[in-house]
Formats: sequence, C-alpha cells, structure tokens
Amino acid sequence: MPFSEKICPACGASSRDSEFSGNFCSKCYSERAEMRMPARVELSICKRCGKMGARGWSLPTSDDIEALVLSRCKGDYDSASAHIEGEFVNLEFTFIESGKEFAVKRTIPLKLRDTTCTECSRKAGGYYEAIIQIRGEDEEKIKRMEQKISRLVSRSSFISKTNWIKEGVDLYAGSKRVAEHVISNLGFKYSKSDKLAGVKDGRRIYRRSLCVRV
Ligand SMILES: [Zn+2]
Ligand SMILES: [Zn+2]
Repeated sequence: MPFSEKICPACGASSRDSEFSGNFCSKCYSERAEMRMPARVELSICKRCGKMGARGWSLPTSDDIEALVLSRCKGDYDSASAHIEGEFVNLEFTFIESGKEFAVKRTIPLKLRDTTCTECSRKAGGYYEAIIQIRGEDEEKIKRMEQKISRLVSRSSFISKTNWIKEGVDLYAGSKRVAEHVISNLGFKYSKSDKLAGVKDGRRIYRRSLCVRV
C-alpha cells in the first residue's frame, strides 16, 4: 500500500511518527473533538395522546427530538446533525481546523418513557373548569354544535364529560379560557356565570358556565 505522509494541521506532527485519525494526529483529533454528551437520552411521551414532555407538552416531530438531543451535547463543533434511527440517534459533529474539516460520529440510545401528560391525567380524572351549555329547540342543530365545539375545544384542551339533558347538552371543558375562546370565535352570543367551586391554596376556584343558544 502506498504511504503518503500527512502533517497534522494543529501541531505539525507527521504521520510517519504518529497515529492519525483523518487529517489530524490522534492526540489532536481527540482533543479537538472533545464532546460531552449523555450516555442516552430519555424522552417522556404521553401514552394517551403521544405528546412529548419538554418545557411543556407538545406533539413531537423527529426534528424536535433531534434538536433536543443536540441541545444536550456540548462541544466546540462547527456544525452538527442528528438523525433518529429506530431506538438510536446518530450524531455527526463537524470540526473545522486550519481550513480542514473532520467529522466525529457518535450513536446514543434513545429511550421513550411512557407517561401521562398533565392534560390527559386531568381528563382521566374528570377535571373541568367550564361547562358549556348548548340550548335550543332544534335537536339536530344542538348535535351539530356539540360536535363542532367538542372538536375545537379538544385542539388545545379537552372535554372530560358530555352530558345530554332534556334542554340540550352540557360539555365539561378542561380550560375555561379555551372554552370561551372557541365560543366567542364561533360568533355566538352567550351568557356566562361563575360559581365558587372551592378554595385551593388560599385561592377561590370558580367554575364558569357558558350558555349558548342555537
Ligand atoms: Zn496534532
Ligand atoms: Zn397526553
């Protein structure tokens, strides 16, 4: 095999005297590629809705997960990329030294931990902050509105109970802010009232009723 001499761009060592990794001598290579990264990355995923817990809960894309893994890796690299492959994340860090580029590859295991997010555990526990009361004479109209409002509320909160009564239907909504937002966005006139539901940590807790006529 023909042997062509390499000179380490960082320290000037020759490949005749030292071991090399890529364009650098092994010593400079490992010094320059000093990386601190977790042995593995654990992610909390809600087993009910699939949302990922990291500064709040949201449905993760693989880009989100890759960015999260990279944010836990520390080093003086010039660029980095991450790709999920099954239960592993393949990482590649690129270092530029004296105009030359070299890459360090690492693979770390990805562990998905089953958990239940705040919203799903509240929903399972029957939690609600507001009751949306849909009232009217036309049953079909009420049914259509019930489906529409449920769908819209569930986008950013949840309905923990749907209770049909003679006069219409009551929807128990997880967030009064979301419930009211949905109803006013639909352009309905509604009346609201607050009822004291209890005291928590010295604060009075009110449940809001929003009454819509269709
Ligand atoms: Zn060197
Ligand atoms: Zn969830």
